[in-house]
Amino acid sequence: MSDLITRLQADLGADVVQAAAAADLARHMSDHAPLLTRAVTPIGVAYPRTTAEVSAIMKACHAARVPVTPQGGMTGMAGGALPLQGGMALSLERMRAIEEVDPVASTMTVQAGVPLQAIQERADAADLMFPLDLGARGSCQIGGNLATNAGGNRVLRYGMTRDLVLGIEVVLADGQVVTSLNKMLKNNAGYDFKNLFIGSEGTLGVITRAVLRLYPKPQSEALALCAAESYDQVLAFLSLARKRLSANLTAFEVMWNDFYRVAASGAARAAPLGVDYPFYVLIESSGPDPESDAARFQAFVEEAFGAGILIDAAVAQSIKESTEFWALRDSSGELDRLFGRPVNFDISIATAQMADFAEDCRGQLAKALPGSKVLAFGHIADSNLHLSCRGPEDSPPTELIEQVVYDCVRRWRGSISAEHGVGIGKRDYLHYSRTEAELALMRRIKAALDPTNIMNPDKVLPRA
Ligand code: ZN
Repeated sequence: MSDLITRLQADLGADVVQAAAAADLARHMSDHAPLLTRAVTPIGVAYPRTTAEVSAIMKACHAARVPVTPQGGMTGMAGGALPLQGGMALSLERMRAIEEVDPVASTMTVQAGVPLQAIQERADAADLMFPLDLGARGSCQIGGNLATNAGGNRVLRYGMTRDLVLGIEVVLADGQVVTSLNKMLKNNAGYDFKNLFIGSEGTLGVITRAVLRLYPKPQSEALALCAAESYDQVLAFLSLARKRLSANLTAFEVMWNDFYRVAASGAARAAPLGVDYPFYVLIESSGPDPESDAARFQAFVEEAFGAGILIDAAVAQSIKESTEFWALRDSSGELDRLFGRPVNFDISIATAQMADFAEDCRGQLAKALPGSKVLAFGHIADSNLHLSCRGPEDSPPTELIEQVVYDCVRRWRGSISAEHGVGIGKRDYLHYSRTEAELALMRRIKAALDPTNIMNPDKVLPRA
């Protein structure tokens, strides 16, 4: 093993391949999921600057049968970038060039280590927009967003990460480079293998570059925080929003009463709506024409109010207010502080059944763990529900809570992962959402692309 490090250092430099003793290991062994104890110290950390260097590292690790864990900004929620078998940690952080913005094709070609926020800002400077957005935008990297097929708040309008990608370059387990930096929207020339790698969490290859889709920058933005009496009214509101706002509808975030109460308790100023309504919706519209868009949005909220769909509403009157409204929804990132060490879930459930599911889940948890508490919120138009659960004590019985929630997900035929990936955190529940035939096909793909099982082993797929 130390042979491998020495040889790679001779070829690429001691700065590019660092032995464990010389590397800053802590930041390569933890992510945003509390699973630190499961990481195993790697033999070294590689910081390649080019695709050719990634290829050389993969070739050497493949020959030596050393496992490789590709890493981005280490902001994952499922432990997908934690080294579990030691081996080599492969950080893409030095591949941070934005290689091209093509305004005619509306594309941006980037290397894997570019932070998401840098991509957003570069698109903005070209009067365009890269729509992917999530809380970790400042520290996550596009390679990690691609590897996990990240979602976020604007999926209902622009899709998941995979919908924002036209081409990728990938280094396979044996070091072979496949450059497929397609920029054309229409291209049916054979298998579309990019979608095998997007969302595969580094288990099939290392994504090194990508061609991203850009959109026109919206010229108007409007935001309202609304309250509804029942989930049926929330669904009626979503249906009306789709009709009246059409493509201008860019976010529809729903907070159950329990979540809103906790979020409001952490807000810097008094929350814009009282804390006693059953459901809250944060709805965002953005479009091409500031004047007519604002009037359309105002009329839509009034119509919903007049039709009895809403029982209260506040339209943000300034950018400061918009930021405060969004801060309530984004307080999901602060639940450790506000709610006390919850076990967090990222699941998919049919949109129409989501409230009944949440009730069922709450009931099952109360039975299994009296005194437990559940907060619910989510991107319901994407069928994506987040739950934060805690037991009566300070340290939650994580396994029991996971078992109860994932049992519910299985009964309601949902998905154990909506936008965070499987990683190690949900691997052993994958069969709750996938059939034996689906799992067998995944294993065949894995065996074909990574026959020696060195690509991020033990992630995503449970052992057969
Ligand atoms: Zn989310």
